[in-house]
Amino acid sequence: MNQSILEFIKNTVSEQNVLLGEPMSRHTTFRTGGEAAIFVQVPSAQALEKLVRYFAKVSQEYFVVGKGSNLLVGDKGYQGVILNIGSGMSGIEVTGDRMIVEAGAPLPRVAAVAAENGLSGLEFAAGIPGSMGGAIVMNAGAYDGEMKQVVQSVTVLSREGEEMELDCETMEFGYRQSIIKNRPFVVTRVCLRLKRGNAEEIKAKGESFNAMRREKQPLEYPSAGSTFKRPEGYFAGKLIMDAGLRGFRIGGAQIAEKHCGFVINVGNATSADVRDVIQEAQERVKEQFGVLLEPEVIFLGDF
Ligand SMILES: Cc1cc2nc3c(=O)[nH]c(=O)nc-3n(C[C@H](O)[C@H](O)[C@H](O)COP(=O)(O)OP(=O)(O)OC[C@H]3O[C@@H](n4cnc5c(N)ncnc54)[C@H](O)[C@@H]3O)c2cc1C
Repeated sequence: MNQSILEFIKNTVSEQNVLLGEPMSRHTTFRTGGEAAIFVQVPSAQALEKLVRYFAKVSQEYFVVGKGSNLLVGDKGYQGVILNIGSGMSGIEVTGDRMIVEAGAPLPRVAAVAAENGLSGLEFAAGIPGSMGGAIVMNAGAYDGEMKQVVQSVTVLSREGEEMELDCETMEFGYRQSIIKNRPFVVTRVCLRLKRGNAEEIKAKGESFNAMRREKQPLEYPSAGSTFKRPEGYFAGKLIMDAGLRGFRIGGAQIAEKHCGFVINVGNATSADVRDVIQEAQERVKEQFGVLLEPEVIFLGDF
């Protein structure tokens, strides 16, 4: 790593926010992944903009991480800079039926604030353990809800650090899909438009979704939630179960017995273990049913 780039980062975010050789297993919900050469805890939107502009100028590779809840980082780690958008950019503001939410705000917290303010539309998100930014990129969704339904606009930085406001249509939201999956924009904040409702009912709905999750999903193990996208006309978990892979294990990674759509870390899994279980499920399902399972999980770095 170029010393002057490191110096610039330290001067911009202060030294305590820069971690060198940081294990990504500490920052992913799979609890796997090797070291990031430089891991930056972004302290503010201003610092983020400064870094993005600078990285464009010096052609420094970087990758934005929120809660790491949909991320598989290779065991050999990532050689560039990780920009972690978290508590330094987690403001939530409520005005009438709108919420302005910074990208680092945890989604369950955003859903809770909406409920407290009698705003309906985010109940589905109460148990999705991502950040607001990650939820936008992935168009996170559950129980017939998705971010697309509540987004009014998204403020992003372009690769050059230029701020742009994208309306919901421009975001090209689809199933676990948005324009940002194909374009290197960084989400900085989001304007949500919700509906007025009864605070108690909104809270109860979110809680009932969470109870369903606890009943159906192996939440007691590290994972990234559903590992695969839902193939049209099928359920990934059912296909994997029917392929005889319930409980299938490589190293510390396993197809969950409770829900075959989840690959879980049952103890000391490596990212290669997780990847290999994913590949095995893909091959067996393709062989037996002719259906291609596409991972929902994002892969990063060297395996
Ligand atoms: C137990 C469990 C249950 C889950 N249930 C669901 C569910 O019901 N529905 C669902 O859709 N998902 C679910 N997920 C997956 C995950 O929580 C979501 O995809 C979430 O939106 C990811 O957010 P994140 O902040 O963790 O993103 P990360 O994993 O940190 O990143 C995911 C992608 O988003 C990008 N990204 C993150 N933040 C930004 C930003 N500010 N700007 C630009 N790019 C950014 C990253 O570069 C990466 O490409 C679940 C995961 C777990 C562990």
